[in-house]
Amino acid sequence: MTNKKFWKRTSVTLLILISILVLGVYIFSKLTSLYTKNIDSYIYNLPFEKGTKHLIVQGYGGLFSHKNTAALDFEMPIGTALFAARGGSIYSFKDDYNEGGPFAKYKNKANYIIVKHDDGSFGCYWHLKKDGIVTKNGTVEKGQLIGYSGATGFTLQPHLHFSVKRKLNYDKDAFVQTNFITTNGIELLQNGEDYERP
Ligand SMILES: [Zn+2]
Repeated sequence: MTNKKFWKRTSVTLLILISILVLGVYIFSKLTSLYTKNIDSYIYNLPFEKGTKHLIVQGYGGLFSHKNTAALDFEMPIGTALFAARGGSIYSFKDDYNEGGPFAKYKNKANYIIVKHDDGSFGCYWHLKKDGIVTKNGTVEKGQLIGYSGATGFTLQPHLHFSVKRKLNYDKDAFVQTNFITTNGIELLQNGEDYERP
């Protein structure tokens, strides 16, 4: 085999390998695990300030950390104000952790706030910053300031993880999909799209 032929074959092989890799990453980003088909009838507020928009960096069933989980990850810098997506009473919270990252050792190190809604479901707000909870007891109104986002616990980047659950466990159907009012109308939110709170 001549030198020229060798390099031609090598570059073709490389090109094929790179194409497979790019395609693999693309397919991985589009694939999801199973998640609940149940959709809540309530219309939620986006959990951030009016007139601002945030990108969904992981949607329902996402393979990174939403396996069988109907949760949404909103990209946002640490310290972004969070507002109740639905009113209720403060059920539980944690706000004294101060570390996070994409490693298993951080799995139980997230600060969070759980709001119990009047139908018995729970609104879960995760990865808040240290001392980032404004309301620690009593009730909150829909749209009320409840705390500040962060990057505590198991996370690749600063974001808010939001989910609504009918039971506080990790069964697929403990979760429920939620419609939000956005500047586009009433909709379920999709991975890779950004949404503005009207
Ligand atoms: Zn998440």
